[in-house]
Amino acid sequence: MSACRCETPPFDYRDFQSTPVGIDETNGRFAEVSIETCRHCGTKWLRYLVEYEAFSESGRWYRGRLTAEMEQALTPERAVAMLESLTWHFYGGSYFRTTGQKGVGPLCVDL
Ligand SMILES: [Zn+2]
Repeated sequence: MSACRCETPPFDYRDFQSTPVGIDETNGRFAEVSIETCRHCGTKWLRYLVEYEAFSESGRWYRGRLTAEMEQALTPERAVAMLESLTWHFYGGSYFRTTGQKGVGPLCVDL
């Protein structure tokens, strides 16, 4: 079986149904946290998007598989720790100059 589109970057927003979780204001990030459900396989992804308007090429996003357990405990402020606890996640954006790659461990979310 080939990998679903939700696991093969670059990602297309049309493949997901997005549900906003809220804004993470930690350290003045005002990051957008949302749950994106794949329209093809139903996998839920936790998406974290941060951008510093005053700085070019600061935009970055992360997305990782969201388990039911994580979803229950999810708040905007907990999203980064949850993504960091995963065995891997996707990351991308102008800051990284990539449309999506696999990464592990700590997220780089502050300036
Ligand atoms: Zn999928």
